[in-house]
Amino acid sequence: MYAYNDQSLINKLREHQVHLTQNRIAVFKLLTESKTALSVCTIMNQSESILDRISVYRALKYFLQKGLVEIVPNNKGNSRYIIASSNNVNAKSRDEKCAYFICSTCQHTEIILEPVNIKIELLTKNHINKCSLILEGICGNCK
Ligand SMILES: [Zn+2]
Repeated sequence: MYAYNDQSLINKLREHQVHLTQNRIAVFKLLTESKTALSVCTIMNQSESILDRISVYRALKYFLQKGLVEIVPNNKGNSRYIIASSNNVNAKSRDEKCAYFICSTCQHTEIILEPVNIKIELLTKNHINKCSLILEGICGNCK
């Protein structure tokens, strides 16, 4: 039925009431295996299936709506996507204060699961709904 035999992946998608298509499975498989954030280009280049840009965008948009994927903010205009940690107990607090580590050498990206405590009220008098922190540095592999 599907080119992929990864039943646990398919089960996870089914748990989230994902309507399965070849493209969605292909994109989700890449993101799951990558353990870092991927750009649309990287997904297109690394996929075993032939995926065009529109298909990748559509799949990612769908996963974003389902809460399965997060966009990693960056200031370079090249959004990257990572598997959401929404199954984690910290998901609620992460929605409010979300931190990412990005390696400035290899672009390795991870979501920091521990709640990040910043006294935002000390920084600004404005009301903050959402806070995304990007911590840049050198990852273990690049040291
Ligand atoms: Zn690195």
